Amino acid sequence: MEHYVFAPHPVSTVPISGGGLFPVRRIFCVGRNYAEHVREMGGDPSREDPFFFTKPADAVVTEGGAMPYPPATADLHHEMELVVGIGTGGSEIDEMHALDHVFGYAAGLDMTRRDLQAAAKKAGRPWDMSKGFDHSAPIGDIVPAATIGHPASGLIELKVNGTLRQSSDLSKMIWSVPETIAYLSRQVRLGAGDLIMTGTPEGVAAVVRGDVLEGTIAGVGNVRTQIV
Ligand code: MN
Repeated sequence: MEHYVFAPHPVSTVPISGGGLFPVRRIFCVGRNYAEHVREMGGDPSREDPFFFTKPADAVVTEGGAMPYPPATADLHHEMELVVGIGTGGSEIDEMHALDHVFGYAAGLDMTRRDLQAAAKKAGRPWDMSKGFDHSAPIGDIVPAATIGHPASGLIELKVNGTLRQSSDLSKMIWSVPETIAYLSRQVRLGAGDLIMTGTPEGVAAVVRGDVLEGTIAGVGNVRTQIV
């Protein structure tokens, strides 16, 4: 049998509330999924097909760990989001059965190098370096859907150093979780371990070293990190 020429990278995991580890396969993110956020970014929130970008699996920061301020930016932004953990894969999943594929949910942060993203948009270039950098996905524990059900509404909030920065409701998503899963599964075959970050509401802004970010999604849980 052929052997690895060096040790393979360990599987990234997210703790599951109540015990166990969720092994992360890929991280998909939905762009422009709350109308007020689309407007604050200078866009038109009329309903167009959802679009996706990705982060590497090892971008997760778990258990309230610190997030190092990344290189190559002077404008690191927070984006507070509901994260869906896929438990059963599939392709061409229909909306009616989409939630059967969900293992659970978490609160997460799609951290963004906004200056690099703005430059990429202007030049028609990919978003990878603005979104998929090291430590760019702080995430709270995953709560099984078997415990909390499937939240379609509920307060989603982010505080920075105790001050409220983002506040909205999950019901304001342009594309619901079932719609997002159905659409994404027509682009790629979803696999167990895939995470989907479902987009951020309005109020995104810059953070600096020392800032403490604390996000809450009613009925789901929390995410916490400090920028160091
Ligand atoms: Mn986002």
